[in-house]
Amino acid sequence: MKIGEIQQELITSLLSIHNEGEAGTICDWVLEYHTGRNRMQRMIDKETQLPSETITAILLCKDQLLQHRPVQYVLGEAWFMGLKFFVNEAVLIPRPETEELVALLLDSCKLNSDEGLMSFILDIGTGSGCIPIALKKQLPGADIVSVDVCNEALQTAIKNASANQVSVNFLHMNFLDENKWDSLPVFDTIISNPPYIPLSEKATLDKHVIAWEPGTALFVPDNDPLLFYKKIGIFGKTHLAAGGKIFVETHQDYAVAAQQMFEENSYATELKKDINGNDRMITAWVA
Ligand code: GLN
Repeated sequence: MKIGEIQQELITSLLSIHNEGEAGTICDWVLEYHTGRNRMQRMIDKETQLPSETITAILLCKDQLLQHRPVQYVLGEAWFMGLKFFVNEAVLIPRPETEELVALLLDSCKLNSDEGLMSFILDIGTGSGCIPIALKKQLPGADIVSVDVCNEALQTAIKNASANQVSVNFLHMNFLDENKWDSLPVFDTIISNPPYIPLSEKATLDKHVIAWEPGTALFVPDNDPLLFYKKIGIFGKTHLAAGGKIFVETHQDYAVAAQQMFEENSYATELKKDINGNDRMITAWVA
């Protein structure tokens, strides 16, 4: 089969479940991965015959994509802040909103020329390790501790740190269990993209999210949507250094409530919108 033919077949199949833009992007990723050629090179080589193993691999991808499996899981990789991460169903696919959270922390360090904020960082709920690994690349002098409740996620994060050649201290821990906090030191910065979607919203999410991404990384109980922020606020009372800051990603509908909760616990806060204009990030510090 020729490059042009398999491309046509893949696009046509994907159009049954995606719009044109999405189908084009997914097709690009799959074909670039399996043929080693970018879009322009594929156009030039459209009459080139592909080896049968490559065709088989692409058709296998097609079957999985048609079951709404996200292309990042199908290929086993995703990009975050210009870095490549291994991903699987034990970890969330890194999101652009989370890139904005990391950028907010980096901007805050630069703006205040605050060496202090950069030194000792805790990341809560590391998943693929995208947050600590991207931070360590930018702040090589920082010591970063990253915790997650899921062992398989930690294994993925460890693999990602090694592939991106940075050192992060990964710890297996259920952060919600306050009894575990004694084993953690005081930090200059705490960052987290915790689970924040109330379970009742499950029905409103895309099929490829509900069916494939890890529920523990996404959902919180309907009766306690601020669960993680409350715990982080309490944790900060004993584990945030003077002058330190907390950076968290939030659900757009619960951002104001989370902000109020931090303020009721005597933090000063700032709420920021993401690039789509949705309330998305809170910075909290002890005033
Ligand atoms: N910190 C990881 C990410 O941003 C995982 C987040 C999560 O599991 N809620 O992708």
